[in-house]
Amino acid sequence: MKNATGIYLHIPFCVSRCSYCDFFSTVPRDSVVKVAYGDRLLSLLRRELEAVDRALVVSVYLGGGSPSTMPRRFFERLGALLREYGVTPAEFTVEANPADLTESFLETLVCCGVNRLSVGVQAADDAVLAAMGRRASCRLMARVIPRARRVFGNLSYDIIYGFGKQRRDLVAEMRWLFDCAVPDHLSAYAYTRPKRRGAPPVADEERAAEEEAAIHSFLRRQCFSRYEVSNWARPGFASVHNRLYWTWGRYVGIGAGAHGFEPLAAVRYRYPENVLSFIERPRKVISRLSREMLMKEFVMLALRTATGVSFTQFGDLFGTDLRTMISPLFRERFVATGYARLTRDHLAATDRGFAVLNTLTAALFGDIERSLVGHGTTD
Ligand code: SF4
Repeated sequence: MKNATGIYLHIPFCVSRCSYCDFFSTVPRDSVVKVAYGDRLLSLLRRELEAVDRALVVSVYLGGGSPSTMPRRFFERLGALLREYGVTPAEFTVEANPADLTESFLETLVCCGVNRLSVGVQAADDAVLAAMGRRASCRLMARVIPRARRVFGNLSYDIIYGFGKQRRDLVAEMRWLFDCAVPDHLSAYAYTRPKRRGAPPVADEERAAEEEAAIHSFLRRQCFSRYEVSNWARPGFASVHNRLYWTWGRYVGIGAGAHGFEPLAAVRYRYPENVLSFIERPRKVISRLSREMLMKEFVMLALRTATGVSFTQFGDLFGTDLRTMISPLFRERFVATGYARLTRDHLAATDRGFAVLNTLTAALFGDIERSLVGHGTTD
């Protein structure tokens, strides 16, 4: 069986730290570290490109951190390396901070083959942006986002809701943002407070739910569909790369803190979150997953999507029928009440089900565990 492959490159550098952030990233004092890190990243990418079936590479994704703070030369060399190996992914995404979207940066991206830009908007309200510690203001975004729209045929925004103490008008924020430029894709994430002293509070449940509902109804009116619990797209613009994570695709992760997955070998790996050790002596920390863990991961990831878990794919991967594992109690609690939809080949969470996804997933985990214990096959 051949797996579509994605390549994820992690750039753990930021200009400053945002108050809400829980990602691994550092603020380097000079560009020497970035250059050395970029060199290491590209040398490991070359090694991976030697090993993978390059025809199967459907996406390249630069995430962070703030990839847009890397030197231009890094992007030029990355583009040249992909060309050298004949890798022309359907989707080549770079995450960018609006503060970095200069004309020349956008040109550099296009020249090296990037065809999708993911802009970390997070909010369209200056007071909220300030509380988040973002570098961009609404004024700046009003200038640079239309510019990015003119250059990229595939544009995505990230938005955070349920953040902090301020009351927000998410409908007005969304309208303002779409007046700047209508995107093709939008990720809306609920704020989770980092375990750090001084991190801003999470909004109370009621306000977070109101903000989420405002974003969702706005996106529906714009004919976006919710193809994953936090992700929305216009028809034809669901993210190729992110779908690999949810549908058991293969992804090669490179960089300090990057993760990778080899579905055929049932192996996950990660690089430790340490920039200097990545530059000096990069090593992958490998975890081999038991059959039960793999089954659970498979259903947990697939349940995040609107399509849900495919019984056929589950059967092909694990040689057993997930349908027979689903208990009458699960059907009663979630299917009969409209939280989940059960069809001939899929179990999927409905919109109502997405609101209680953790509970629904945990119940299915319980069914899987009981079923495996019943058959004496937990590994
Ligand atoms: S720019 Fe992104 S990665 Fe960097 S601190 Fe802010 S949220 Fe975190």
